[in-house]
Amino acid sequence: MRCAVIGCKSDSRVKCASEVIKFFRFPKDKTLNKVYKKKCQRSDTFETKDARICSKHFTDEDYVRQMKYELLQLPCPKNTRKLKADAVPSLNLFKPSSCLSTCNNSDARTRRQQKREYSKIVKDLLNTERSSKKGSIFGDPISRTSEIVQQTTTSKIK
Ligand SMILES: [Zn+2]
Repeated sequence: MRCAVIGCKSDSRVKCASEVIKFFRFPKDKTLNKVYKKKCQRSDTFETKDARICSKHFTDEDYVRQMKYELLQLPCPKNTRKLKADAVPSLNLFKPSSCLSTCNNSDARTRRQQKREYSKIVKDLLNTERSSKKGSIFGDPISRTSEIVQQTTTSKIK
């Protein structure tokens, strides 16, 4: 039995010497079940009735207090711990921190691409506007003449 949380390597077949890992069923409550499913961050759809979530994802506060042990001031055996009805996995969840930078990079890339596409569209628009106005795809002879005139006048001033 494996933990449903993505990136979690808890496996009931692999005994962990340092800590007792307990596997919990998904809650029957539909809303909470959805929350649990979301916390697993799985891209695939899976049957929550067969899935388990391990104790690594719950804080001490998520467990039902066992008065018997508390009163006797004994450490509560981890394998007998029960989750509170409203407990939600919050620890050791998959954080896409390693992929964040790449995501940002691709974001920047798309933004750059969009910018490029945008300027291309603007250029195209200007071109079509210019050609439609003058009815010719060639440069405007009048503006070119004025340009030459301007050039000659400036050179004359100089
Ligand atoms: Zn887990």
